[in-house]
This record gives sequence, structure tokens and C-alpha cells, in this order.
Amino acid sequence: MPQSQSESLPQVSAETQRYDEIPFFNCGDLCTVVTLKSAAFMSAPRAFDFHCHSLFSDGSLAPFELLMLAKERGVELMAITDHDTVNGYSQTLQTQAVELGLELISGCEISCQWQRRGIHVVGLNMNLNDPGFRQAMQAQGQARLSRAESITAVLQRLGFEVELTQVQSLAGNGTIGRPHFARHLVDTGQMSSMSTAFKRVLGSGKPGDIKANWPTLETAIAWITGAGGVAVLAHPLKYKMTITKLRSLLADFVQAGGQGIEVVTGHQEPSKVRTLMDLALRYDLYASAGSDFHHPGQPWAALGQAQSLPNSCQPVWEHWS
Ligand code: AMP
Ligand code: MN
Ligand code: MN
Ligand code: MN
Repeated sequence: MPQSQSESLPQVSAETQRYDEIPFFNCGDLCTVVTLKSAAFMSAPRAFDFHCHSLFSDGSLAPFELLMLAKERGVELMAITDHDTVNGYSQTLQTQAVELGLELISGCEISCQWQRRGIHVVGLNMNLNDPGFRQAMQAQGQARLSRAESITAVLQRLGFEVELTQVQSLAGNGTIGRPHFARHLVDTGQMSSMSTAFKRVLGSGKPGDIKANWPTLETAIAWITGAGGVAVLAHPLKYKMTITKLRSLLADFVQAGGQGIEVVTGHQEPSKVRTLMDLALRYDLYASAGSDFHHPGQPWAALGQAQSLPNSCQPVWEHWS
């Protein structure tokens, strides 16, 4: 996003120092509460962040900047999970990860729908050369483009001044999404803030929340598993479902070949970690943890600083190691 695109890495370092001072909550004996950085002192858990965004979707850092920031924060293992693209991955990036001593796993956050709800599935450790997966990424790119056309039309009908080319230029080489529309509305003074833009026109259930372009949950999972990856249900509590509905989603998710769930997503209350841990155990799912980092300066989604997984969970990296 333009606001933070100008931020250089030294400023990111300053942010790191600031967030290191934030005390992390204690959730008793249910989970080992450490920042990912201090997890290095523990014997069992490894420090990982399996959910973050670069400027190849709606994040503001380049993939290499993400690696450097993660390294600075003690992360050992990570995946960059841009929305519906893996264009952030390159041979150069893999080499840079090796030079930094970071284990970089392939990743992607796929948009799909289940019972007419928008759902995100994080794919980890896919073979990015898999022809089926490459085709899937192309299809998602196309879906995002035609969805952006529909969002433009909806916003114009509502009286907003917006042209697709303007929003496309905000997305640059990244996949275009609702945050770019929100940014346009804010930049042009048509909305007071990003969150207002989501609340009024782009957020869940609003006219600009168009889901028709997305594949089914089953298809998204098949793309991931077909490329040898593990499918992880992203931020399960963000869909605001009842627990009954969430269980129904998980039953379908498992049935379709999903094997993981994000137990830790960003800065999270202990009760939520417990709920998600229970679901992971109940459905026999690998547990993942990620910040959902998009931009520096957002303490609720700070790269590499989510608390570690509860001890009873099976970490997702055990799936491939
Ligand atoms: P899209 O991928 O186009 O469906 O847009 C979803 C993205 O919008 C999420 O991944 C978030 O990064 C962002 N987002 C969702 N809700 C909000 C909100 N209320 N305020 C700001 N950004 C949001
Ligand atoms: Mn996003
Ligand atoms: Mn998401
Ligand atoms: Mn995300």
C-alpha cells in the first residue's frame, strides 16, 4: 500500500524494537507463550511464520524484505502466502533465503467459496512447477481480474468515481483485491479510512464483496494437494461462523483432503487459541501459525511475532519433514 511502500528496512527495524517491548499474554499451561523470536530457546517448537503477504498481493514489502524482517525476528521457517499467486517466489528468492539461513517453504492463500461464503485456504509446500497448480494460479489471476471489473461496476452504480485502471495501478504487479479498491476510495477522499470503506461497501455482505468468481473449497484443496502441498484452513474465526457451522466447514474441509488449520493467527486471545486447538485435535489436523502480516506498523499482525503453538498440537511442518 502506498502509505508504507516508502518505509525502508531501517524503519522496520525500529518497529521490531518497539514490538519486542509488547508483553505477550499468558494462557496458562495450555500453550507455551513465547514470541517466535524467543522460541529459539525452547527445545521442541521451531520458530515459523506460515502466513504473510508481499507486494505481489496486498502487502507492502517485497518478498526479500519479508525474508530479512523475518530473519531479524528469529524466524527459522517461513512461507509467503500471497492471495492467489505465487509470483513472489523465484530462484533468486530461494537463494537469498539460503544465504540468510532461512528455510523458505512455498505458500499461497487461495480464495474459494463454501456455502456461498468466502473462505481462505493456505497451501503450503506445493511443487510450484506442477502444471495443474500453475494453471490454477492463472485461473485465479483471471478470476481476480473479472471480479475487479464487477467490483468497479458495483461501485460506479453506487455513485463512486472509480476506474479499473486506477485501481490496477495501485495493485502494480500484484493480484488486485478489495484493499486496492478501499485504498483508491481513501486516496480520492471518497472514504475516510480503509476500515470505513470495508464497513460501508467492500466488507463481508456488502455490495463490493463479490465471491462468485471463486472456485469451490473442494477445488482449492485439490489444487494444493495435487501439487503435493498441505491445505490449511486460514484464520477460521474470521468468518464469524457459529461453532456448529465451523464444524460443518471443517468436516467438508477434511472430507476434501484438507489437513491443517491455523491455530494461531496474528495476535490472538488465549480463548481463541484454545478453541482452535480443540478443533485441530477433534479433526486430527496439523496446526499452523502465521501472522497474516501485510504492512509494517500493524501490531496485531506483526511478522514472526505470533505466539507459539500449544504443545498438544502437531505442527504443520511435520507434514513434510
Ligand atoms: P480480497 O482478497 O480481494 O477478497 O480482499 C481481502 C483482503 O482485504 C484481506 O486479505 C485483508 O487483507 C483485507 N481486509 C479485509 N477486511 C478488511 C478491513 N475491514 N479493513 C482493511 N482490510 C481488510
Ligand atoms: Mn490480504
Ligand atoms: Mn485471509
Ligand atoms: Mn492473509
